[in-house]
Amino acid sequence: MLKIYNTLSRKVEEFAPISPPNVGLYICGPTVYDYFHIGNARTFIMADMIRRYLEYKGFKVKFVMNITDIDDKIIKKSVEEKISASEIARKYTEAFLEDLNRLKIKPATVYPKATEHMDDILKMIEILIDSTAAYNVNGNVFYDVSAFKSYGKLSGKKTDEIEAGARVEVMEEKKNPLDFALWKKSKEGEPSWKSKWGNGRPGWHIECSAMSCKHLGETFDIHAGGNDLIFPHHENEIAQSEVSNQKTFVKYWIHFGFLNINKEKMSKSLGNFFTARDVLAKYSAEAIRLLFAQAHYRGPIDFTDELLAASEKGLEKLTNLRDAIESALSKNKPGEVDPDFNLQSFEKRFNEALDDDINTSQAVAVIFDFVKEVNRKISEFENLNIDFYIKIKEFLIRTAGNVLGIINFDAEDVKSDSLLENNLIGLLIEIRQKAKKEKNFQLADEIRKKLEEYGVILKDTKDGTDYLKRN
Ligand SMILES: [Zn+2]
Repeated sequence: MLKIYNTLSRKVEEFAPISPPNVGLYICGPTVYDYFHIGNARTFIMADMIRRYLEYKGFKVKFVMNITDIDDKIIKKSVEEKISASEIARKYTEAFLEDLNRLKIKPATVYPKATEHMDDILKMIEILIDSTAAYNVNGNVFYDVSAFKSYGKLSGKKTDEIEAGARVEVMEEKKNPLDFALWKKSKEGEPSWKSKWGNGRPGWHIECSAMSCKHLGETFDIHAGGNDLIFPHHENEIAQSEVSNQKTFVKYWIHFGFLNINKEKMSKSLGNFFTARDVLAKYSAEAIRLLFAQAHYRGPIDFTDELLAASEKGLEKLTNLRDAIESALSKNKPGEVDPDFNLQSFEKRFNEALDDDINTSQAVAVIFDFVKEVNRKISEFENLNIDFYIKIKEFLIRTAGNVLGIINFDAEDVKSDSLLENNLIGLLIEIRQKAKKEKNFQLADEIRKKLEEYGVILKDTKDGTDYLKRN
């Protein structure tokens, strides 16, 4: 049973999605005015590992990651670069998707953009005004924090305490310093959208409330993001969504810890600011992922060249084993020796680690124990049989490959290869099944042998026939 820490309850809870096997997962994506930094990369990679583990466990995950493609920062950049705001957004959205891909992050089910959800955003603002939780002052619409009694429940902050010490934007028009903008009146020449309250653009917080509701419903399973978003962003999302929908917004809140560079906070002024691109120019995505996986997702992580180099070195153990497996499987005459190897115990430990609040560092330890044990068997016996190699390859693909994303096999996920190819193999398996039923064992055997010649190995199990592609 998967257990996960919920920021809202401040407890480790059993994970029980609203309508299993479906899981709705929302993560706050980027504001596209620049390349994202390695601290953001940590958030995206850890969310990716959680999503992959849920899929490994059989959940069907709808992964929604928004793109804020209109914002003050985008407008500022467009003035600096003398190109339109939409052109800035397009350029950095493209770069964002490219970098996610290079970090081996599985694509989201949907990447909703703020500018494509204006109707949903306006509708939600209207509901908030109608329920007196928002007010319009000269074309600027604000959320009235005093309208939501539970304000502060996620961050644990009390409104009077926040007011005393917070760096909140002071605007004369606001009733209360904590109130925040839902709709911002546009200045001359700025990109704007029509609304009842005049031309303007949405505030950042309302975008996430409107888009998550549109794609995942009024109540959904998991909302994730960096620690720095708990207050005020996620607190504000809750306030908007729960007043507007009159329902619990999110069941589980997951937050990722900070990333430090050589034990210092990363900042442009300290000169230790790195984009994901900068790091990818020197290190592999797998090394970055392995480094992140070795720390608990909630805690801080230190990011240094030495640690990355060590991570790169650690990966060699995995890639060496992969190459040994591929080479053994490509031999014409595989061995006959059946080693006594308890694969299930490793799979069990891998599961237990991740079920325990996504303890990726423990899961990584299991993988390296596995590598050690397999290497011991390989050096102990000369002629291990093909079944052994197939099983350990499948295990590594399932765990280190599909869940942690720290190793690639050429045919990494047999099921995701060319659809036509897989359909054709499926068809042949069906025909073979039929032949067996009709006691035409000669045909059944011929199909099996022919497929094996082409590198497709059939495996009959109690649930039917599965297959594996040998390179
Ligand atoms: Zn958000």
